[in-house]
Amino acid sequence: MTTHALLIDYKYCTGCHSCELACRQEKHIEDVDQWGIKVAEFGPEMLEGKWYWDYVAVPSSICDLCADRIAEGKKPACVHHCLAKCMEAVTLEELPVRMAELGGEGVACFLPQKI
Ligand code: SF4
Ligand code: SF4
Repeated sequence: MTTHALLIDYKYCTGCHSCELACRQEKHIEDVDQWGIKVAEFGPEMLEGKWYWDYVAVPSSICDLCADRIAEGKKPACVHHCLAKCMEAVTLEELPVRMAELGGEGVACFLPQKI
């Protein structure tokens, strides 16, 4: 049963790809066409007079939210290595309060399919 959710505040994602590499190492993913989490890039493009260049890290179906690490009281590997500290794992009980604290805009919540 899912006990945690992964929150990513995209406003602060720098597109550093550390989450991809940390997940690849943690989950021993050797196939270069497989990803536990993948950073997509949008832009740069001009919209309504403003430049946008955004990065969006999206977990795949491989992601189990590092259930083994969470059971040991550790952060998920991607959260631990995120250079911008814009990722966090929260319990389902904490989720509504934390989402409200982060303000909602530009924040995504992922629930793993595997726990
Ligand atoms: S929580 Fe763990 S399995 Fe999921 S994307 Fe992050 S490192 Fe990969
Ligand atoms: S590690 Fe954090 S800052 Fe870097 S690409 Fe992933 S979500 Fe963005």
